[in-house]
Amino acid sequence: MYNKHQVVMVRAKGATVWDETGREYIDCVAGYGVANIGHGHPDVVKAIKDQADRLIVMPQTLPNDKRAEFLTELVGVLPQGLDRVFLCNSGTEAMEAAKKFAITGTGRKRFVSMKRGFSGRSLGALAFTWEPKYREPFGDAVDNRNVDFITYGDIEQLRAAVTDETAAVILEPVQGEGGVRPASIEFMQEARRITKEKGALLILDEIQTGFCRTGKMFACEHSGVVPDAMTLAKAMAGGLPVGALAMTTEVADRMPAGGHGTTFGGNPMTMAAGVAALRAMKRENMAEQAREKGAYFMEKLRAIGSPKIREVRGLGLMIGVELKEKSAPYIAALEHEEGVLTLQATPLVVRFLPPVTISKEQIDQVVAAFARVLEKINPRAERSAELAAEIKEDKQTE
Ligand SMILES: *Cc1c(COP(=O)(O)O)cnc(C)c1O
Repeated sequence: MYNKHQVVMVRAKGATVWDETGREYIDCVAGYGVANIGHGHPDVVKAIKDQADRLIVMPQTLPNDKRAEFLTELVGVLPQGLDRVFLCNSGTEAMEAAKKFAITGTGRKRFVSMKRGFSGRSLGALAFTWEPKYREPFGDAVDNRNVDFITYGDIEQLRAAVTDETAAVILEPVQGEGGVRPASIEFMQEARRITKEKGALLILDEIQTGFCRTGKMFACEHSGVVPDAMTLAKAMAGGLPVGALAMTTEVADRMPAGGHGTTFGGNPMTMAAGVAALRAMKRENMAEQAREKGAYFMEKLRAIGSPKIREVRGLGLMIGVELKEKSAPYIAALEHEEGVLTLQATPLVVRFLPPVTISKEQIDQVVAAFARVLEKINPRAERSAELAAEIKEDKQTE
């Protein structure tokens, strides 16, 4: 449930957004990490227009040319072995699918999930989500009796938690909502080894990290870890709602016929946009762009050198700046006073998820704006308290 903002956004192109008064913003939100290839990418726009003329709806029980094309493109970029795909319409649905396929795929029903992890907001996906504020309003309707939470990055805790009753370990290669925290390569590789030893699946949530965000097509490529299943969504179809569970044949084949499905999954409109988006990512070397611009962005942020900054961290263009105080007043000031859109990740972190097409000039402008608000805002001032209250009320949590 999102409250309304003071401004009304009406148009966007690349990494720029305009409100109804014509004011321009640099977008480091990208629809929560959806517009990776930039708003209004011409290939995606054309694909949607052409497909609207040809065919809008066709269920997955009937073959469709665009769906076939999309699956070929997607499997072509996925790590080897993940050649079966369940198509749906959001990240949460991908997590729900992961849960069901893990249960049927292993004959087990316990899960290991990560503290500070975020998996979505359905009752099933919430069970994997650690942060109590997302779960508590619904009490024990969120049934996580089968989920053990461990500290992200703690190999010993992971080893102790995975047993021969564990269906799957679920983790984000970089925690997004939990404060932009990249996993170490060692943790990723140990997670792979431990799950294999115990006959459990490793399910990577690449909903936010996938599709060039971290400087690779998928974040798991940084560690070379190939999971048994991967959840995908956000940027996969160039901006249209989409989700997918990519998995091994072994996992896919154990789902009984009719065991899972969804009406809009794999619809021709989304698939046409997805084909255009995936081809644009490859053709324009977007992973490389994210790697290079991300390094530049983080270097500039570190150079601000404000005593209010505790840490700048991230991978590619998934960047978090942890402050020594609440980030909300700074996020509000960036939007209202500087025309820069950013988002929160935990109360102390300012998160930057710009389109990969953001220019270096825009990055420079964002960093200069951030330096100005860090300089200007006195957290004890009354105005800042007002802003904080306003943001709290107005907060959009992902
Ligand atoms: C956004 C997100 C989800 C949920 O996806 P929705 O499309 O919002 O349902 C799950 N996991 C991660 C890591 C996400 O970033």
